[in-house]
Amino acid sequence: MQSHQSKKIEINGIVQGVGFRPFVYAHAQRFGLTGWVRNTSHGVEILVSGKPADLNHFIKEFETSPPPLARIDHFSAETTPYQAFPKFEILASQPNPGDFIPISPDMSICEDCQRELFDPNDFRYRYPFINCTNCGPRFTIIKIIPYDRPYTTMADFPMCETCQAEYNDPLNRRFHAQPVACPDCGPQLAFISKTDQSEAMGEDALQATRQYLADGKIIAIKGLGGYHLACDAKNEVAVSTLRNRKKRSDKPFALMANDIETIWQYCFISQEEENLLSSRQRPIVILDQKPDSGLSPQIAPFQTTLGFMLPYTPLHYLLMEPAESFPQVLVMTSANLSDEPIVYQDEDAFSRLGNIADAYLIHNREIYMRVDDSVTRVMNHQPVILRRSRGYAPNSIRLPFQTPQILAAGAELKNTFCLTREDYAFLSHHIGDLENLETLEAFEAAVVHYQHLFSISPQIIAADLHPNYLATRYAKQRAETENLSLVLVQHHHAHLAACLADNRRPDDNQRVIGLIFDGTGYGSDGAIWGGEVLIGNYQNYERRYHLSYTPLAGGDLAIKTPARVALSHLWRAGLPWDDILPCTTELCMEERTVLRNQLELGINAVPTSSMGRLFDAAAAMIGVRQKVNYEGQAAIEMEQLVDPLENGSYPFHLHGQEIDPTPVWEALINDKYQGIHQAVLAARFHNSVTQLCLQICQQIRSEQQLNMVVLSGGVWQNKVLLKNTIKNLKNHQFEVLTHQQVPPNDGGIALGQAAIAARLEQIRS
Ligand code: ZN
Ligand code: ZN
Ligand code: FE
Repeated sequence: MQSHQSKKIEINGIVQGVGFRPFVYAHAQRFGLTGWVRNTSHGVEILVSGKPADLNHFIKEFETSPPPLARIDHFSAETTPYQAFPKFEILASQPNPGDFIPISPDMSICEDCQRELFDPNDFRYRYPFINCTNCGPRFTIIKIIPYDRPYTTMADFPMCETCQAEYNDPLNRRFHAQPVACPDCGPQLAFISKTDQSEAMGEDALQATRQYLADGKIIAIKGLGGYHLACDAKNEVAVSTLRNRKKRSDKPFALMANDIETIWQYCFISQEEENLLSSRQRPIVILDQKPDSGLSPQIAPFQTTLGFMLPYTPLHYLLMEPAESFPQVLVMTSANLSDEPIVYQDEDAFSRLGNIADAYLIHNREIYMRVDDSVTRVMNHQPVILRRSRGYAPNSIRLPFQTPQILAAGAELKNTFCLTREDYAFLSHHIGDLENLETLEAFEAAVVHYQHLFSISPQIIAADLHPNYLATRYAKQRAETENLSLVLVQHHHAHLAACLADNRRPDDNQRVIGLIFDGTGYGSDGAIWGGEVLIGNYQNYERRYHLSYTPLAGGDLAIKTPARVALSHLWRAGLPWDDILPCTTELCMEERTVLRNQLELGINAVPTSSMGRLFDAAAAMIGVRQKVNYEGQAAIEMEQLVDPLENGSYPFHLHGQEIDPTPVWEALINDKYQGIHQAVLAARFHNSVTQLCLQICQQIRSEQQLNMVVLSGGVWQNKVLLKNTIKNLKNHQFEVLTHQQVPPNDGGIALGQAAIAARLEQIRS
């Protein structure tokens, strides 16, 4: 016994509700150790006794094979005076008010549950709500903390004896799995047809749904974080009917297929893309479509890409089960009306989706927090998150410094908000475009929910400088009524800081070059910024260069009409509105006269340095698109035209702070006269921006010896631009930071706002 030792181990991170204590228990048994494990309000605590070699093996297991959903943020083990225990046991929790536990996102069904789902001998055979500690719903069903069944939407379902026995058994995969359920005691499916008023339950409901889908009908399906609208992706009529009923022109629909092999029939899939598709988060992955894929062109009009995801719930696997008469690929698009948030409550589904769906597949497990599907794309061999939601939120992002408790309200479009405490930043799931009452209500409800879940009462509120953003108004109002300090952050400074925080750059006063290329952001001079070269850090920034101001005549009308943006750019550059340019002929003579007057008199013409608008202008001049139906459409379509073998480019002119595109337009129009193909023009324009980035960075390096470059802003969702620019900068020994955990678009803004507010506060105090 002399050689025996005791160790006290403390672990923080996502270690509760993910099978951590059974994991500890099982390994303690395996190595013949005694002692105990218990949940505390900040993680898990273990006291364990045994031979030193066995203790070391035990500790090694946390590194080599932790439970799949666990995330260890801090691990400490110290030797303590030897204590003898009769056995190893799991003790009751030790809560501590004010502390918090990170909450796991909802995770796709695990392999074990998937096997049981299709095993005729298992008592959960074909049960659509099978789950265990390694998988299933989490964030979407939690009402309040602690994460215990009575505080989730599973409270309505008392466990049967079998489930209870598994729940109580430390060696069972379902030990303390809060959503555990079976056909006897858990939620059930129901099918309701609108066409013939028929209803069905359980397996019959599933089969009725499959029959409807096979017949080309549109079904509203209740999922994990909200409703989907589903139909056969090969059925032209079904897809265009869905598009018409949803009033959604051109914006692509997401697709679901049962396995990678099926997706491979329609799209090219790299190893990185396959890994992302089959990851536990199961995001939508944007893939390059194969020519003549046979899917309805109505799925993603004018696009060469498709957004695919694999099934992520047991219900999806049952729904997608391959059969000769059943569609291989389903459209699975978020159920909402145009710009409203995703529908997640049953009453809402019946009232709002009544004119869209032919039938409903619902269930009686309530969704407490709505969460959309996440959207990702592999760019330059790295996964980039374009919409951070299901599977990722509410995972915390570790900050490189300690922060006070802050609420950052985020931006207007693709809104997410961020709450911080200690060195954790909780970036919310995707809320949506904060342009209507429904979305604002979803935003406010989610803020309150996150504050409760993570025990945060903000002392500081950060928001965008834009006076008319609903999120900014909300922030100002709260700061006033609760007497909190308010920090207003310039939009592109927030982008820069978001990328620094995303990469865990310490706050060491080192300045970086920020190439912040974006659609729209309110500038400190009241203009609309977006083609910004900032030099700065968390605390402040200098606007070193920006695209020349061009009047955005007509505001919103201009944003929806790239032709007008193009003509405005030509006007600014003093170039004629030549009839060889499709953007000129797009407008009739009268419209041109009105536009010219607006520009010359400066009526309703806000100056903008937007890089997004520069891409719109180029797309219109090249003849890619004159009107858009959603943000970024023209740029997306121009990007996919790019001839990868073309390496010509056009020069920008730098003078003072300005990046003047006049010579780019001159050269492009000249190429147009030569009859050069669109694909070459698109490539030359992209190359021009890539060359500009290098030129600017070299200029700044020669002036200020700065070597680190940050790429952030919505324009960096452009795969061609991102890849070429990174390559070009790295070839010239620049260090390049891009987004890893949060989107480069405005979905990442709140993280930057929070980081800036945290550092400003530190300077003050
Ligand atoms: Zn499982
Ligand atoms: Zn049961
Ligand atoms: Fe932005």
